[in-house]
Amino acid sequence: MSQMSSEPNRFAVVATEWFDGERRHADGPTTMQVVDGYVVGMAPGDHGEALAREGWSVEHAVFLMPGLVDAHVHLFLDGKPTDSVVRAAHLKQDVDALAEAARRSARQALACGVTLVRDAGDRYGVNNRVREEAKQPGSSMAQVRSGGLGVKRAKRYGAFMAADVDDEASIRTSVRALAEANDEIKLILTGIIDFDAGRVSDEPQFDLPAARAVVETAHAGGRKVFAHCSGEKGLTVAVAAGVDAIEHGFFMSRDILALMRDKRLAWTPTFCPVHFQWAQPQAVGWSANTVGNLRRILDAHAEHLLLAHRMGVTVLVGTDAGSMGVEHGFAMFDEIDRFTEAGLPMKAVLAAATAAPRRHFDAAHATLVAGAHFDAVALPVSPFEDRSALRRPQRVWSQGH
Ligand SMILES: [Zn+2]
Repeated sequence: MSQMSSEPNRFAVVATEWFDGERRHADGPTTMQVVDGYVVGMAPGDHGEALAREGWSVEHAVFLMPGLVDAHVHLFLDGKPTDSVVRAAHLKQDVDALAEAARRSARQALACGVTLVRDAGDRYGVNNRVREEAKQPGSSMAQVRSGGLGVKRAKRYGAFMAADVDDEASIRTSVRALAEANDEIKLILTGIIDFDAGRVSDEPQFDLPAARAVVETAHAGGRKVFAHCSGEKGLTVAVAAGVDAIEHGFFMSRDILALMRDKRLAWTPTFCPVHFQWAQPQAVGWSANTVGNLRRILDAHAEHLLLAHRMGVTVLVGTDAGSMGVEHGFAMFDEIDRFTEAGLPMKAVLAAATAAPRRHFDAAHATLVAGAHFDAVALPVSPFEDRSALRRPQRVWSQGH
């Protein structure tokens, strides 16, 4: 038995076509060799037979690509129920039940080919717990990059995902502690959109000096900041404070995008929750006027996403899974549809769903190369021919399993 367990776990995959996270390789098959979860070799041509003779198990894939990354989820929330009573009851469960919900979410994500999620906050720190569990060998959950508990202002939006901070001293103390537990600091910079009014009505939760205190303290602790932020006032503060990423970012402008490009900030536009409320307004009880606002907001968002792509702003695919109507894993395909409908080419969309977030998260390897963890998805058809192929993953490998 001891001999068997010391035997390396090795296999090879021959891909007819593949995408490395940034480049498409459609000029003949490629053979990849994986040992103990890592890519150890990558060679042009089909070397399947030769490797099989040497005892390697060999698989074939029509199309291979890196595992998808959902850059914005809330694992402890279940996006499937759309009844507000059911959603409120979900949040009243104890921490163990919410942790179990988070495990289900992470399993569902992985089954859809999402091998990594960034959790954008929960008040109990369930995300940090699941992050550790997902690291166990053979786990059937997506890997988790965790924002732990975010920071917000007392009596303002975000109680389900963030703790209150007050003056500058309390900001620094809280963020210093959060930076030790969390992979990234989530700043709830604004409230939510007033869809009836069709704008962000509230003042930002943090002014520029306070937002700067969050960013400086996070950076001193070696952590990036991702800011929940929509509306011109909040976006102006976020960019001036030097956050590393803007989440949602509705009511974006060309001027803000230019600053984001120059300062190398990433943008996760999270179409899904707003798109759901536009597509199924009866779930929320929206009036025809509000549905019109939602459509206008989504159209402007799509225009700015295309502009961001053309201007060279880093964009990340993130779904806000766990929000009403936004299901873990499956929402990734919907968000990819929104990116494609906005006019981004498939190569850019797939990069925003694979290499771009890994690069933003400072992963050891952003693309699928020799030396990288083998986190990959096999598809029955190339998504460059048919993007619905993404919805039909044939195999998903996480850390080589
Ligand atoms: Zn969120």
